[in-house]
Amino acid sequence: MAAISKETLRTDAQYALELDAQDVLSGFRERFHIPKDASGKPEAYFCGNSLGLMPKAARALIEAELDRWARLGVEGHVDGETGWKDYHELLTEAGAQLVGAKNSEVVFMNTLTVNLNLLMSSFFRPTPERNCILAEGHSFPSDRYAMLGQLGIHGYDEKHLIEVFPKAGAHTPKTEQFLEIIEKDGDKIALLLLGGVNYYTGQVFEMHTLAAAARKKGIVVGLDLAHAVGNVPLHLHDWDIDFAVWCSYKYLNGGPGAVAGAFVHERIGAQFKGPRLAGWWGHDKASRFKMPPDFIPISGAEGWQQSNPPILSMVPLRASLPLFAEAGLERLQEKSSRLTTYLRELILSLERPELSILTPAEPQGCQVSVFVENRGKELFDHLSRAGIVADWREPNVIRMAPVPLYNSFADVYRIYEAIRSFWNTNQR
Ligand SMILES: *Cc1c(COP(=O)(O)O)cnc(C)c1O
Repeated sequence: MAAISKETLRTDAQYALELDAQDVLSGFRERFHIPKDASGKPEAYFCGNSLGLMPKAARALIEAELDRWARLGVEGHVDGETGWKDYHELLTEAGAQLVGAKNSEVVFMNTLTVNLNLLMSSFFRPTPERNCILAEGHSFPSDRYAMLGQLGIHGYDEKHLIEVFPKAGAHTPKTEQFLEIIEKDGDKIALLLLGGVNYYTGQVFEMHTLAAAARKKGIVVGLDLAHAVGNVPLHLHDWDIDFAVWCSYKYLNGGPGAVAGAFVHERIGAQFKGPRLAGWWGHDKASRFKMPPDFIPISGAEGWQQSNPPILSMVPLRASLPLFAEAGLERLQEKSSRLTTYLRELILSLERPELSILTPAEPQGCQVSVFVENRGKELFDHLSRAGIVADWREPNVIRMAPVPLYNSFADVYRIYEAIRSFWNTNQR
């Protein structure tokens, strides 16, 4: 397979078909429901970074759980290997593989922001000397609210949130900017909280480098992997990350409101004696149903569980998570890189001065964020009319994420054709 680059790029439709014919993962598209437009034509769906598509296998699995409830009532909790009592464990191994963790370091529970708050309540422990949080500028609003909330609980305010913004003229902050702050002010920082991939720009942070520098200064490292999990390679255990959280409805295709994930490094989670918000589902499984008055946490990430989990919001993950191992993480990564490079190069080949790509080319995930000078919303509406589902962010950014499990090169080519026709039909 020839690499796709500025030099090898062809802008004819036939090239997209050739790339699809070479794609060893093309069959996985059939395993998903692809939404159709009003005329019945499949949409070119580029919103997998917002809500992943439905794996066809999910429906039968949900129906099976409804049937089990209908047939067994409360007995469904203890119905064999897949009884509801331990149902979350059916997801652990596949989740651990996706984030590069041991099974004991991973648990599926709650939803993303809840998990972020839960783990910060254990791992953001400011002292009079060390009481700041270091984060990327323009982090997802929910994360910023959660950080400010946690600061507030400890009696600190916004002045204790250090945010790293791009320098003048740049679209994204540089690794060196974080490293400088860690070097200079590291002793004041209690927590580094980083989105693995920024939701707006699609920037993939150099998580390993930043985590290593922070940990050397005694800073706790947390990651929000909402846009990273199922998208870019992750090695949380080997990178020595302290804790991480993610949602399951974006690249993991777990469905709206799907149960989220959390990671706590074994080094901390195995023996944790510090403070935590406790609930009975985090209690030692052997004695949980004896209902003892004192809390004995399960060792590892499961010790942070609160409640018995929403089974129906977990079920689709049993259809979607195995697809990653089946396709192979390396092959997915390779296709992702080809799709995204193809999209970038097609956009650049248009040579429209109005368009600039915010997303750094290296390292690269699925997402490409395009800044549109003037008429951005008009262009976005034009794409929508052409059956392209992208995502509009005020004031002038279009986000598109070609997903290797279900997007084709022909899908990507539709973006190119639509952008080109926008300026052909709107010459001014
Ligand atoms: C999508 C996303 C969220 C959404 O939070 P929920 O708790 O799932 O509603 C939060 N943070 C980041 C970084 C996200 O990308």
